[in-house]
Amino acid sequence: MTSQSVPHLVAGTQSNYTVAKFGGTSVADFTAMNRCSDIICADSSVRIVTLSASAGVTNHLVELCNANLSPAQRQQHIDGVVAIQQAILAELTLDADLASGFNDTLNAFIQLASQVLTSSALHDELLSFGERLSSYLFTQVLRLKGLNAVRFDVRQVLKTDSQFGKATPNVAATAQAAQTLLIPKLAEQVIVTQGFIGSDAAGQTTTLGRGGSDYSAALLAEAINAKSVHIWTDVVGIFSTDPRLCSKATPIARLSFDEAAEMATFGAKVLHPATILPASRSHINVFVGSSREPQRGGTWIEREKTQQPGIRAVTQRKNQILLTLKSPEMLLASGFLARVFTILSEFNISVDLVTTSEISVAITLDNAANASRPELDQGCLDKLAEFCHVSVENNLTLVALIGSEIQLRQHEMNLMQVLSDFNIRLICHGASKHNLCFLVEQSESDNVVQAIHSRLLESDYAA
Ligand code: ASP
Ligand code: MG
Repeated sequence: MTSQSVPHLVAGTQSNYTVAKFGGTSVADFTAMNRCSDIICADSSVRIVTLSASAGVTNHLVELCNANLSPAQRQQHIDGVVAIQQAILAELTLDADLASGFNDTLNAFIQLASQVLTSSALHDELLSFGERLSSYLFTQVLRLKGLNAVRFDVRQVLKTDSQFGKATPNVAATAQAAQTLLIPKLAEQVIVTQGFIGSDAAGQTTTLGRGGSDYSAALLAEAINAKSVHIWTDVVGIFSTDPRLCSKATPIARLSFDEAAEMATFGAKVLHPATILPASRSHINVFVGSSREPQRGGTWIEREKTQQPGIRAVTQRKNQILLTLKSPEMLLASGFLARVFTILSEFNISVDLVTTSEISVAITLDNAANASRPELDQGCLDKLAEFCHVSVENNLTLVALIGSEIQLRQHEMNLMQVLSDFNIRLICHGASKHNLCFLVEQSESDNVVQAIHSRLLESDYAA
């Protein structure tokens, strides 16, 4: 057993601990898990390991929430989950404590997944199995490397409200639980726990939304006063744009919290958008790198502004909805926007961009394809229609330029030249110096991003 003594944590001050999070592809199979264990062994500050479900598992679980599956389809998804676990298990012998927990969890999964589940609470219970299973297997992989690793059920600590499918964490309750249940263990052990899941005040399982494990890692880091969160994924950091779209996209070495938050919000798929919140408010540095190629470094997201002003990246987010609300009442009337936003908030709809004219307001909403619930429901539209004319446009993409101190006049010429070839539906700039956004037709958006990247971010042109 390697000894990894670290200074004892003094409540309220930052420790030297690191929370390391490994995404689905990083724990997809035994070989991938093994690579991750090398990363952990090389860094004795890592005391909490937050895991995703092995790649593909959560997609099966989402399918299993569908009440309309035929028995054969249901069986196929159950088998899919079991096969992924068994393939890893074939390379491992679990210690007795892990074996009994793993077997019980797998059996509980099969039992629950065999039923037609209609409540959102049960859906979250079902969705939680991916992370619960991967964490048993990964604990054993760490033990093989001689680490004093224990599996910990994060639901004891990560407390949330009861909004199943997209729960909001209770930061104070989480910190309190971490203080008693987690922090005392960290001096001696490496804690292997689950991303994505938590529990409400009644102890029911909740989830933070798809991709939520990054957020979990940042929340846990905050709860234990960690100095940094390392997000290990399958790309070598955050890129200037999606490298699959632009072969000249390059990883960004440093980003400020503001820039990173904008990038995550506006579609860079690397980080769950909420991840930056706890990190930024608690001064925790975030690193994003590839568990396949840790030697290649990655992106550091930090508080310090060491960067020159300018455009750092271009992102896109597809499947946007443009909601336009029009009413003569809006003219010189007070309270119109308040009324609109009250209704949107009643339906828990989060708004991205807003532009207004004298008698109308245009609002964009995200309608992510894999979201666990639709963003815009009919009840909300009906309520809005009581006092204004409502129109809804689909199949739009939000393209965002992200950077620091973005000033339109510096880029005006290049940008206008690029955009003149496309049909731009709405432009938004000014509320933040970190972005400049516009909506385009989905069918054109890849071309828009490529044109902007080549004109504004590739070295021949970039300022
Ligand atoms: N397993 C969950 C998902 O696939 C959470 C995560 O990986 O971040 O969405
Ligand atoms: Mg992810």
